[in-house]
Amino acid sequence: MAFGSILVANRGEIALRVIKTAKGLGLRTVAVYTDADAKAGHVKAADDAVNIGVGPVGDSYLSVEKILTVAKQTGAEAIHPGYGFLSENHEFAHTVIDAGLTFIGPEPGAIQTMGNKAESKRLMIEAGVPCVPGYQGTDQSDDVLMAEASCIGYPLIIKAVAGGGGRGMRLVFDETEDLQNIIAQARSEALNAFGNSELIIEKAIISPRHVEVQLFADTHGNVVHLGERDCSVQRRHQKIVEEAPCPVMTPKLRQAMGQAAVDAAKAVNYRGAGTVEFLLDASGEFYFIEMNTRLQVEHPVTELITGLDLVELQITVAQGDPLPFSQEDVVLSGHAMEVRLYAEDPANGYLPTTGTVNLWREAVGKGIRVDGGISQGQEVSSFYDPMLAKIIAYGPTRDVARRRLISAVEKTVLLGTRTNTTFLANLLAKEGFEKGEATTAFLDEAYPDGYSEEDVTAEEFALVSSLFFERQKASALTKAGFVADDQMHWTSAPLTPASLKIIVNDSTVECLIMAVRGGWCVAVMDQNLIVDVLEISDSSVKAKVGDRTLEATYVLEGDSLQLASRARRLFFKRLRAGAQEEGGASSGLVKAPMPGLVIETLVKVGDTVSAGARLATLEAMKMQHQILAEVDGKIEAVKVSEGDQIIDGQIMIEIAPNEYLVA
Ligand code: ADP
Repeated sequence: MAFGSILVANRGEIALRVIKTAKGLGLRTVAVYTDADAKAGHVKAADDAVNIGVGPVGDSYLSVEKILTVAKQTGAEAIHPGYGFLSENHEFAHTVIDAGLTFIGPEPGAIQTMGNKAESKRLMIEAGVPCVPGYQGTDQSDDVLMAEASCIGYPLIIKAVAGGGGRGMRLVFDETEDLQNIIAQARSEALNAFGNSELIIEKAIISPRHVEVQLFADTHGNVVHLGERDCSVQRRHQKIVEEAPCPVMTPKLRQAMGQAAVDAAKAVNYRGAGTVEFLLDASGEFYFIEMNTRLQVEHPVTELITGLDLVELQITVAQGDPLPFSQEDVVLSGHAMEVRLYAEDPANGYLPTTGTVNLWREAVGKGIRVDGGISQGQEVSSFYDPMLAKIIAYGPTRDVARRRLISAVEKTVLLGTRTNTTFLANLLAKEGFEKGEATTAFLDEAYPDGYSEEDVTAEEFALVSSLFFERQKASALTKAGFVADDQMHWTSAPLTPASLKIIVNDSTVECLIMAVRGGWCVAVMDQNLIVDVLEISDSSVKAKVGDRTLEATYVLEGDSLQLASRARRLFFKRLRAGAQEEGGASSGLVKAPMPGLVIETLVKVGDTVSAGARLATLEAMKMQHQILAEVDGKIEAVKVSEGDQIIDGQIMIEIAPNEYLVA
């Protein structure tokens, strides 16, 4: 049973999390990864890392054969499956054991029983664990299911016995719905998604809390529970926020739920870390829904209030050693709260997003922990689960933990793809959540029309416009051959307002920007704002905008600007004249951004210019607009002259881009 090395058959934050503890225990660690994950944190952290595929999970992280081959090649003696992927696959556990390796998890039999919602409920009823009233029989005929449904009464929930991750569930409100048809659909969906068409029917508990108990069992007959976690804040039956303890827990209820969880574990001869999930209704009754036979995503909140390392305990138990404490030794202190950082767009139906991580900064501070396996440059691909990291906070009280968590969410910056950061900070500050009243209905109640992001403010547009110009100025100054001339030039430009069209969330906003003493003046959304840039680097900016001080972290790539300011994560694109057409600004074609009168041309054929240099002035909408070079290069043609009336998109000047001038 004793082992000196572990292969972690997983990716992302959990792989890194397991590797950290294993290394701390002096064990040799082996990571597996795909091409898509080549730059991921777990790959760097492990002593050994082996590539097992390109991207798709079926042929990599879910390939039992590949994982075992790597274990053999690298001499790994134990396998930790993390969560998801193969962690609840009893056949995988069997194969690992048959290969003479240690599976860090329960016996395959326990995984199999608890992995079936019907079988596990039947066993729990036998063991005296309270379950949601319903039907979990083997007779799956229409007649029986329909008859059982009418006994249970509405509203009811139909679940796939092999379902998981909140998928394969159907809520039926009342008898006006076509139950027979819903059953038929649920069956075929279940078969397609999970390879098993069997269903269970449950009474739908109205606005319950999701409260789960963490337990641990060793091979010496000891079973203890480590208190509960409240995971009621969910979207599509999937958790977003988890906390420990549950805000409405009482010692008596904890004792009862803890005992029920221990009974559940004993009923399947459980070993290792497990979680028994219950629904807790408004009257204080609780009902078993399922047991997860692995480490949970949200295990850190339990670690923070118990002071235990659950991965270390898993390893201890897997080595055959007894748990180093008994139930009486478990002391819960303080409060911990976790949010899941997802690559998704909450304002757009929580649709997963993808991209390349071009900035990743973890929050640090008192009581803050970030579990992430992210590296800058890493791909966020559609192959994997959109959860990127977990942000966790601890405090002596719930409110301290909650406030620290909001601050940690603000300080954790991931740019490169849209995430749910703004949404997380928003929901943590909602009154119902603040008071600890959230049930599984919380998100629907708090956002009855769905979540939508606050509009971009005039101050934010002003900051963004100034940032585009500041960086353009900085890049012009660092380019060879332009120093003296351009420095002179930039101290005074643009003297007349330049038009900047900025696309944000599919709409275009025009900002007029002009250099003024010590900063910029930006006219946007009927406001004139003075922007005083106080500090600037190539990834952060602090500026006084009107009478507000804004601080932001940003990534500027060409015409795209991503900005993180407190909990706001904003994506802007600068619209160049003609940029949407072929032969746009980057090709050196300078087109009129709007119809107008050419007031002056400032360059002639043969001149060398750098990006940001003034080329001409156009009068439009009763204002003068600077036409600026958008690439470095040599003027090839000047196609307009002073006094010309030109149309929108008309080519004014052609620049031959001069790549080698770029520093
Ligand atoms: P999965 O295995 O797909 O995660 P679960 O049975 O664990 O499914 O349920 C996930 C979530 O769905 C629960 O946390 C709860 O919010 C909701 N849910 C499940 N069963 C019921 C029920 N009988 N009544 C009300 N809500 C339920």
